[in-house]
Amino acid sequence: MVTLRQAQGPDAAQGADAARGSGRSREHAWAVAATVTDPEVPVLTIEDLGVLRSAEVDGDRATVTLTPTYSGCPAMDAMRDDVILALNAAGYSPVEVRMVLSPAWTTDWMTDAGKRKLTKYGIAPPSGRAALQQGIIRLQLAVKCPRCGSLRTREVSRFGSTSCKALFECLDCLEPFDHFKVI
Ligand SMILES: [Zn+2]
Repeated sequence: MVTLRQAQGPDAAQGADAARGSGRSREHAWAVAATVTDPEVPVLTIEDLGVLRSAEVDGDRATVTLTPTYSGCPAMDAMRDDVILALNAAGYSPVEVRMVLSPAWTTDWMTDAGKRKLTKYGIAPPSGRAALQQGIIRLQLAVKCPRCGSLRTREVSRFGSTSCKALFECLDCLEPFDHFKVI
């Protein structure tokens, strides 16, 4: 899967190398910002989510661009504050976080690593693709049970523990689970 993140951002190996050094660089700032996690789904970093769009460095100044997952998502304020704290702790000052709303975030930007982490955490990752064609068309595939892998699942409630997840249950192992909705 080619995401905009992969097209814009440094690759993971470069970021990790830069993080080990003390030098400030775009790659280093990206690697530091990429350690920030989603308070609602703590296994996912903002890099896994595709929320982290770019990092720029000019001397000690860092500018990070984020695209919110959902407008009004309360977790975004926490993620923005955590990016500032993490970069301040790494010696960047001032730190500016820009929120870019367009193009709108979609679950298509979630990395494959992020989807694997979600499954291990017991949350079914977004299935299918949000396609842009005369507005957003949501293509929903069968949701796979993160515990037993069964595709015999059903939606119990459109809203799970948070608004970005739906509550499902598995008809085979009978366990309820959250599904990260496709948007
Ligand atoms: Zn199951």
